Amino acid sequence: MLDKAPDGKMSDLLNALDKALSAGEVERAVDLFQTDCYWRDLVTFTWNIKTMEGKEQVHDMLKARLSDTKPSSWKIADGEDASETDGIIESWIQFETEVARGFGHMRLKDGRIWTLLTTMSELKGHEEPLGFDRPMGAKHGAERNRKTWKEERETEAAELGYSRQPYCVIVGGGQGGIALGARLRQLNVPTIIVEKNERPGDSWRKRYKSLCLHDPVWYDHLPYLPFPRNWPVFSPKDKIGDWLEMYAKVMELNYWGATECKTASYDQKSREWTVIVQRDGKEVVLKPKQLVLATGMSAKPNIPKFEGMDIFKGDQHHSSQHPGPDKYKNKKAVVIGSNNSAHDICAALWEAGADVTMVQRSTTHVVKSDSLMELGLASLYSEQAVQSGMTTAKADLIFASLPYKILHEFQIPVYNAIRERDADYYKRLEKAGFLLDYGDDDSGLFMKYLRRGSGYYIDVGASELVANGSIKLKSGVDVKKLTEHSVILTDGTELPADLVVYATGYGSMNGFAADLISREVADKVGKVWGLGSNTTKDPGPWEGEQRNMWKPTQQEGLWFHGGNLHQSRHYSQFLSLQLKARMEGIPTPVYGLQKAHHLS
Ligand SMILES: Cc1cc2nc3c(=O)[nH]c(=O)nc-3n(C[C@H](O)[C@H](O)[C@H](O)COP(=O)(O)OP(=O)(O)OC[C@H]3O[C@@H](n4cnc5c(N)ncnc54)[C@H](O)[C@@H]3O)c2cc1C
Repeated sequence: MLDKAPDGKMSDLLNALDKALSAGEVERAVDLFQTDCYWRDLVTFTWNIKTMEGKEQVHDMLKARLSDTKPSSWKIADGEDASETDGIIESWIQFETEVARGFGHMRLKDGRIWTLLTTMSELKGHEEPLGFDRPMGAKHGAERNRKTWKEERETEAAELGYSRQPYCVIVGGGQGGIALGARLRQLNVPTIIVEKNERPGDSWRKRYKSLCLHDPVWYDHLPYLPFPRNWPVFSPKDKIGDWLEMYAKVMELNYWGATECKTASYDQKSREWTVIVQRDGKEVVLKPKQLVLATGMSAKPNIPKFEGMDIFKGDQHHSSQHPGPDKYKNKKAVVIGSNNSAHDICAALWEAGADVTMVQRSTTHVVKSDSLMELGLASLYSEQAVQSGMTTAKADLIFASLPYKILHEFQIPVYNAIRERDADYYKRLEKAGFLLDYGDDDSGLFMKYLRRGSGYYIDVGASELVANGSIKLKSGVDVKKLTEHSVILTDGTELPADLVVYATGYGSMNGFAADLISREVADKVGKVWGLGSNTTKDPGPWEGEQRNMWKPTQQEGLWFHGGNLHQSRHYSQFLSLQLKARMEGIPTPVYGLQKAHHLS
């Protein structure tokens, strides 16, 4: 038999899949998959974000969804070729459904589908006005009483939310709300972003003053408008704040700053929300069909309750309220916690001349920023990746093509290599008493982020201060109580303190649903974030996807959006398409709506 090149093998498989699916022959289609297969669907078949694991789940999904979806035209994506490495053939693919155009990625093992990613690119008939279809801007010709662009924007701003209701309200105008708002604007979905801070970018500006992004620039682009090539690798927080402010303006978002959402309730009959907001001291009632909470997964502070907090005479605050180190020169500071914020704040206090002690209760995963960039991110998000032709969109899709169920298997070797490379560094930290971990299964930082959103420090310098004792460390202990001038630890140590910072992390976004809507709705929806991996702080059962993020929830019309800049950019595409389809009345039967297994 002729040994075909990867293109031929991939095309044969895609043709066979096309034929089986077009003929509605589910068994024949499933036969093209490996036993240990994964099909990750971002909205095209399931109107959900869902991974089918194994042939049985693929079979069940196709049985339920094939006749409505009517997929066709499967082929290697235009301008792309399949490639083969270590017996795995992979390729970018394209296809269509009855209502949408799709793009994806496929890996073949032993001639059958091992991983399949299907993502929705655009809804037919509702394409974004881009490239050849971009708006004219100027209206050539002559017209009496014509309105300028500025006047049209002013009219829209005056009407929307008052004489005309938005289809969607996004609560929270951080990077998440802004990225989603930009996508919805392009899709012509009338949207208001409600933000209690005055200006876009304030959620970054208000954080501790030494903060710079921990992720590098290649990972952080917003949709449509990438950072320029001279943008720093790690954006200082105020600079990213300014970028967001500029972005909200040029992307023509209806951004209501200094506006707080007070309550929201859903009327099942009219299938409409009543959202009460306070704008410029006045109450405004909004009536959207869809409500998105983009209130931040690192925004609802976990503030511990310790005996004696009420009598402590010094300053005490959560890390999110920490103003910076300036007034703490020569003061004694105790920072409770050992993750990113704790390290950043300890380092800045030490730089300002404070006497700093970090209290570490349990193990923390620490990884040097350089090592993470070189071994963890470089192939997809780095200058080298850009030079070798990697685009942000492709990097995002490659990342998305690795099913969560096996993602840790790809991550473990990366962190093993980092441990080997930085062995001396880790030894020094341990010698200083620092309690290290590398994730429950040694899969490192990104899995910890996806599973629990916490438990790590990307080292940009503070670890050296811990290792050499400049930042004092008390590990394996908790706080017992506070006195007027000190913190007493469970081992009996007394730490004199003028300042106590609680760098104790953040709670589930579900808490915002409880605050703004009701406890009942929050409980119905359940925990937000995590994969159900049955690892620390991510209880099972296995979900296969991030709980409640960017996809339908148990509460009709309620959505959660957010995450890091990469996730905000990538998943805003799929959330915006789900919202647009609903606005246009395109049927969106959700396959495999997640159940709530945990409350928060
Ligand atoms: C210290 C720290 C460092 C981080 N570093 C990085 C990094 O390097 N890279 C990265 O990608 N991510 C990082 N993150 C994580 C994440 O990207 C940020 O938390 C980011 O700000 C999340 O954006 P967001 O829009 O989802 O939420 P936020 O920026 O938290 O925005 C939520 C907004 O909702 C508003 N809001 C809440 N309730 C209401 C209400 N009732 N009415 C009106 N408005 C409301 C808030 O005012 C806030 O502005 C970091 C987080 C922290 C805390």
